[in-house]
Amino acid sequence: MEIADLAARIVAGERRALARGITLVESARADHRAAALTLGEELSGRGEALRIGLSGTPGVGKSTFVESLGMQLLGEGLRVAVLAVDPTSARSGGSILGDKSRMEQLSRQDGAFIRPSPAGRELGGVARRTRESVALCEAAGFDIILIETVGVGQSETAVAGMSDIFVLLLAPGGGDELQGVKRGIMEIADLVVINKADGDLAPAARRTCADYAGALRLLRRRTGDPEGIPKAMTVSALEEVGLAELWAEIRALERFRRESGHWARTRAAQARGWFEEEVRRGLLDRLSRDAGPAFEDAGTRVAAGRETPGAAARRLLDRLAREGGNGA
Ligand code: GDP
Repeated sequence: MEIADLAARIVAGERRALARGITLVESARADHRAAALTLGEELSGRGEALRIGLSGTPGVGKSTFVESLGMQLLGEGLRVAVLAVDPTSARSGGSILGDKSRMEQLSRQDGAFIRPSPAGRELGGVARRTRESVALCEAAGFDIILIETVGVGQSETAVAGMSDIFVLLLAPGGGDELQGVKRGIMEIADLVVINKADGDLAPAARRTCADYAGALRLLRRRTGDPEGIPKAMTVSALEEVGLAELWAEIRALERFRRESGHWARTRAAQARGWFEEEVRRGLLDRLSRDAGPAFEDAGTRVAAGRETPGAAARRLLDRLAREGGNGA
């Protein structure tokens, strides 16, 4: 199929075309990569969704939450896409959205699109492909894009870097709740949501929420954010309690950031960051392709103490620049 044709079908809202576009974006084949870039250019500037990052360790209720919130949003006439960034899927063999039993109801809806994380790649590759998939979903007319990740390694930072609003989902804790959560993620979260605030777990959820509210107050408010953000809230994804309040909070934050100019600045900075990352990755790829043995040799010399790391890197880069100038 011609790329222009595929692009037109994606814009027309054909979900099979969207799925195919994403498969292209995820592929490591050089011809697919070239086609994916063309597709990205064809679709550039089409549609704009609210991108919501969602992080939480396995078992906190991410899929239950996405299902409940997603169904609620569909009820409001919004179209919802769900993507995942999951660097662990390579090792575990599974994928956080790969399990068919997850989000069963949502996945059957016309207005919803659910795509598991591309498996078998390092975080950088997964993040890059997810960014491109976000762009395809926007071109396909989705209003809301939920980007889900498990709370491991750098994946939260990667997801925050492609989201407009970042939600950290937690389960009720028992006494020393705050210990398990890294300070860094508290600093990137806009909303800290304590799930499972129902039944026997409700009092613990309220306590955990109060603890986080206290901890969040100690963080410095970020430029361009309203009073009270970041905020801690409780929900029950299972019983669908607190989701409307959470959604109102998300919309209010969106409005505030749009009006303050923070929104546009963040998107511009994200685009620039993405570009710079592409250049870095491209340079690394080129380095291993064009200077593979020299790269290895230099590493060996450095390891043996025959050359300093700084001097070896400089020499290799100078050489690459000379060869790159010859029309590589
Ligand atoms: P994920 O691994 O983060 O995607 O978590 P799941 O959505 O698969 O949920 C893990 C478990 O927690 C399941 O047994 C859910 O039924 C349960 N769970 C999820 N949300 C809630 C909730 O709001 N209340 C209660 N009581 N259990 C929940």
